[in-house]
Amino acid sequence: MGQRVQGPRYLLRIDDVCPTMDWQIWDPIEAILVETGVKPILAVVPDNRDPKLMVGPAATDFWDRVRGWQARGWAIGLHGFQHTYVTQDAGLLNLNPQSEFAGLPYEVQLEKIRSGLEIFAREGVRANAWVAPSHSFDVNTLRALREVGLTIICDGFAFHPFRDAMGMTWVPQQFALPRSMPFGTWTFCHHPDLTPEERVELREDLLRLGSRFISLEEAVALGDRKRSPADAMIGMARSAIRLARRWRCLVRRGH
Ligand SMILES: [Zn+2]
Repeated sequence: MGQRVQGPRYLLRIDDVCPTMDWQIWDPIEAILVETGVKPILAVVPDNRDPKLMVGPAATDFWDRVRGWQARGWAIGLHGFQHTYVTQDAGLLNLNPQSEFAGLPYEVQLEKIRSGLEIFAREGVRANAWVAPSHSFDVNTLRALREVGLTIICDGFAFHPFRDAMGMTWVPQQFALPRSMPFGTWTFCHHPDLTPEERVELREDLLRLGSRFISLEEAVALGDRKRSPADAMIGMARSAIRLARRWRCLVRRGH
């Protein structure tokens, strides 16, 4: 049954969680999450091979920590398989022209997703959602995800979570930084590379908006509805902003 939502709801997603992230930065972020009670979506790379995410020595207790987060009710996202970009395909959302998945054959994508999930299973971690590296994935990714039973996508543009014709539930992800909105369900996406100042801001934002933060599970419960024409418009608005930015870049470069 569809649920009426009163006022805005927010989710916090943190990407690029892996053993070699900067734990000096992560530990204070984790403390903020515990203090504020906000239950984030942590997008974990199962087998990171991206040098950009190799910031420090690998934490030997990494999977203990992931299990601990999940036990707290924090959602764990499958953030690709190895976080290596092998195509220049921007996928369905057309945001970044680089992908670990989009443009690859269905079988190849299925194999990568299965490999990632096998690592999670071996480590006693459940994938609560799909979080594509660089927001790039295509219809074959969705087919492969459906095949393995991972039907919650944390991505896309809409005012609220919705279910598509394939039976996938989309929890939209619209902004990087927390901001107050008049209505809707909004996911803010951070990376574990915040400066000390940004961490202070994050804490203030979470304290200010805290009562309006919901968990992934609660967001999924709001997704028993189809995508509306208004939802499509937010995607269009986003595309228009992106085009305008590119246009400005081109103009500045004098092309
Ligand atoms: Zn990433």
